[in-house]
Amino acid sequence: MSVVKDPGSPMYVPEKNREIARKRARKYTEMIADYLQVRDKIPMGFNQWDRIQEQRRRVLKVLGGTNKDWTNYKWHYQNAIRNTAILKRILDLTEEEVKSIEKTAKQYRWQVSPYYASLIDPKDRNCPIFKQSVPTIAEYLDEEEMKDPYALVYNSPAPLITRLYPDRLIINVTNMCAMFCRHCLRKKDISFKDMIYPREDIQSALAYIADSPEIRDVLITGGDALVLSDESIDWVLTELEEIPHVEIKRIGTRMLATLPQRVTPELCRIFKRHKPLYINTQFNHPLEINPESERAVDMLIEAGVIVGNQSVLLKGINNDKNVMKKLVHELLKIRVRPYYIFNCKKLQGIQHFRAPVSDGLNIMENLRGYSSGLGVPTFIITAPEGKGKTPMAPTYLLNHNRNGKLLFRTWAGEVCEYEDEGL
Ligand code: SF4
Repeated sequence: MSVVKDPGSPMYVPEKNREIARKRARKYTEMIADYLQVRDKIPMGFNQWDRIQEQRRRVLKVLGGTNKDWTNYKWHYQNAIRNTAILKRILDLTEEEVKSIEKTAKQYRWQVSPYYASLIDPKDRNCPIFKQSVPTIAEYLDEEEMKDPYALVYNSPAPLITRLYPDRLIINVTNMCAMFCRHCLRKKDISFKDMIYPREDIQSALAYIADSPEIRDVLITGGDALVLSDESIDWVLTELEEIPHVEIKRIGTRMLATLPQRVTPELCRIFKRHKPLYINTQFNHPLEINPESERAVDMLIEAGVIVGNQSVLLKGINNDKNVMKKLVHELLKIRVRPYYIFNCKKLQGIQHFRAPVSDGLNIMENLRGYSSGLGVPTFIITAPEGKGKTPMAPTYLLNHNRNGKLLFRTWAGEVCEYEDEGL
């Protein structure tokens, strides 16, 4: 007998109870109806792959590269686009746009990797990839005071170290990146000169870690830590492993979104030797996720690396509940765990990207319950003067002691009481 029809079976549900469940299920379907209507219209790397391939052919033609070159990250470094004449041919820029880029470039450096340029839709000036990579006059006109986003004056107890927490810290190894994102918090550090910081400075940082037995977690970042050569990455990871109290290593890189070709079999062989190793990356829009980024993530996972994503909330790019929902779903499909959404800081040159905190809270309200916990990152405001990441969330707790009970609302807005032992 079927287990669902057998009243003695734990899977048996009386028909009247099924009707209650069906009513509830219909309500859930209605709650997601607005998202389902727009979901397939959100631009994604996977559904725009043909358009991206066409743009890739154009980029290769302008730069004089071959399909084999495309797979070589060093070719992308050597051919990084820093020249408006080249960008104009790739993106059909107007004279006014060229002038605006050149004016802004006197104040802020720019550079687009050929790979990232292949993701741009040259016909759409609202393309989220265009906005993240091509300078605009809004950066130049922004008069907000340039502050130190990491408040190194308070938080750098040793060379190249940023320490904001009791058990972990950052080593900054370079100011270089595959691309200079227009929303970068580190605009000030990027400067105009490429630097991989000297080994003697990195050794001083390592000595500080060795002298700090409470440090169990070290993030290697920059700039972008994967700018370092394979040999240097191997060296830093090996040095960290020789410090007995360092339990985990993390690498900060945006290359999974800006230059996934950097993930090579050689790099993965190195990573395989340095478990436990975590990568923090930054995908900000579903258009950045495509078969090439998926291939890079697959290789990292096969090498035993755990990959998490830290998005930045960006006005006009992803400050929308549906775009962010699609982004977390696309990340989970390629096995990247959505980890943080950062609110964009008040810094010179990036103010036009700042979305209100209420946008972030609205996104969180529309993720919790609508996606599994795996797809719900933590929304973060970075406290001033380097006082650390502070989580921001919609309020679920309504009253912690109402008549000896805890009162809260669910993700769907239903108010409930809960017997709490502490009350
Ligand atoms: S990759 Fe990171 S550090 Fe480099 S420009 Fe982009 S956001 Fe800034």
